[in-house]
Amino acid sequence: MTLVFNGQQFKYEMEGVVKLFIPAQKFSFLYDADISEIKGDFCLGELKEDESSAKIRAVLRMDESTIELCGEVSKSVENYTGKCEIAVCSLVFKGLSALTGKTVPWGILTGVRPVKRVNKMLENGLSKKDIEKELREVFFVSKDKTDLAYKTAIAQREILKHNGNRMFSLYVSIPFCPSRCAYCSFVSQEVEKSLKLIPQYIFKLCRELEEVGRISKKLGLTLDTIYFGGGTPTSVEVSHLEAIMKTIEQSFDLSNLREYTVEAGRADTITADKLRTIKAMGAKRISINPQTLNNSVLQAIGRRHTAEDFYEKFDMARKIGFDCINTDLIAGLPTDTPQSFEKTVCGITELAPENVTIHTLSVKRTADLNLGDSNKEKYFESPAAKMVDFAAKKLTEMGYSPYYLYKQKNMLDNLENVGWSKPGRESLYNIYIMEEVQTILAVGAGASTKLCDNESKRIERIFNYKLPLEYIKNFDLMIEKKKEIERFYNGE
Ligand code: SF4
Repeated sequence: MTLVFNGQQFKYEMEGVVKLFIPAQKFSFLYDADISEIKGDFCLGELKEDESSAKIRAVLRMDESTIELCGEVSKSVENYTGKCEIAVCSLVFKGLSALTGKTVPWGILTGVRPVKRVNKMLENGLSKKDIEKELREVFFVSKDKTDLAYKTAIAQREILKHNGNRMFSLYVSIPFCPSRCAYCSFVSQEVEKSLKLIPQYIFKLCRELEEVGRISKKLGLTLDTIYFGGGTPTSVEVSHLEAIMKTIEQSFDLSNLREYTVEAGRADTITADKLRTIKAMGAKRISINPQTLNNSVLQAIGRRHTAEDFYEKFDMARKIGFDCINTDLIAGLPTDTPQSFEKTVCGITELAPENVTIHTLSVKRTADLNLGDSNKEKYFESPAAKMVDFAAKKLTEMGYSPYYLYKQKNMLDNLENVGWSKPGRESLYNIYIMEEVQTILAVGAGASTKLCDNESKRIERIFNYKLPLEYIKNFDLMIEKKKEIERFYNGE
């Protein structure tokens, strides 16, 4: 299909809308073109301004059916550019809905953080009715997803009240895994191939922690939450975990810390020793992620553990005393079926973890799973929507509520990832990172620091080097970049 942009600057947004309906196709692009000269399918988004308004037009041709839709935006409206963007996207959306007959649950909300928009509406004093009306009528969000976004935002209200502008979270990246899962697109390296690198990496990571600790103390920032992610943090040896956690203890003021999470992740990396160390060093929340409890699906996605291993490690963690455990599941995994996914969800709820995160498979470019366009098309026709609906019903029945939500590119059926929690057990860090309301100082390879000023609504990012070897080699340069943190807080 050819996408045509005439007189408008919303290429990225319009392309995002077209991808909702035609996810696996490569597009060609034309600018300010005459559509009568185009052969084959096309989608035009056009904007023509006169003195008082913008006239918007969408023309779409697919399989020899053509549709044309028009609209207008007055120049006197508040946020004129934003309204023009919505008008272009909504005409294209309506045209594609009519031509394909497809329904798209999140409408034209193609961004990563739909709940952030709802939080903004709540901040602006909009009522529940007004918010629902806007999501449904302006953004074409389905009734179910409107309810989900609203409930999630409401669950966050109380938690966000306790966030302060000089509070921050610390993210620690340990980008190693025992083997690579077929769907993974993270920068994560296999432990066996990185054995020599890991001690050097841990050494540098501890030096970076000391530097970030020094800066945070100098600026008088308050450490609120700590999160170890990756990769799989428990892939490294117990002595490495101890060294990192000790460095944190010595470099930061932990007296106001409200949450400390270590994503243990895969059952094949967890040992009683590691769990005892993590607990003794102060982490109270862990993740143990089976993704599915179906052994043949686990094998198909290249995870070297079984459902039984997961049960064993979950039980071990409970016996060691962890009373806040998250488990991640993925809907739409290759070879999984709605029946097998339902069994997984029921198996997990029987264990009563405090948090359950339901991800939808995202077919990313870098994952081994993505084997070309025809294969991709097949995955986009998955039963993931059914699975996600079942999980939502079951978790609600079992007393869980949604508390954070985000979307990724190329998600099956344009669905979402949702964190569910038992009352009062929500992870603060997950809310902060998704809603972009608290500074995250991030250390380690692939980590990105996000500096947030809630008063001026300013957000800035500092990126660390992605791969462990690059991170080690360019360490001094990276430490130099940390000066940005001081500049940001000093208003420079
Ligand atoms: S455990 Fe997570 S980070 Fe590691 S390979 Fe699998 S999906 Fe990627």
